Amino acid sequence: MTTTMTEPEMTCHELVELVTEYLEDAMTASERERLEQHLAACGPCVRYLDQMRRTIQSVGHLHEEAIAPAARNGLLRVFRAWKSEAPG
Ligand SMILES: [Zn+2]
Repeated sequence: MTTTMTEPEMTCHELVELVTEYLEDAMTASERERLEQHLAACGPCVRYLDQMRRTIQSVGHLHEEAIAPAARNGLLRVFRAWKSEAPG
């Protein structure tokens, strides 16, 4: 058991990487908590998660092809633009 006092804030990039594990319930409780904390403060990620959930529902299960690299990169670009506009 590790006691990390300062858990770094999850980034959008991290969330995109972890979203499959989140939806498949394959992450630890602390990871899930960090992810949900990020979701609470990040609208674009909530939409992304929602989109992924629909994708999984439509294909029945999750596979790597569900996340096209181009789509993922485009999404991260949107996040980056959005972040640069945000103060701080
Ligand atoms: Zn985010």
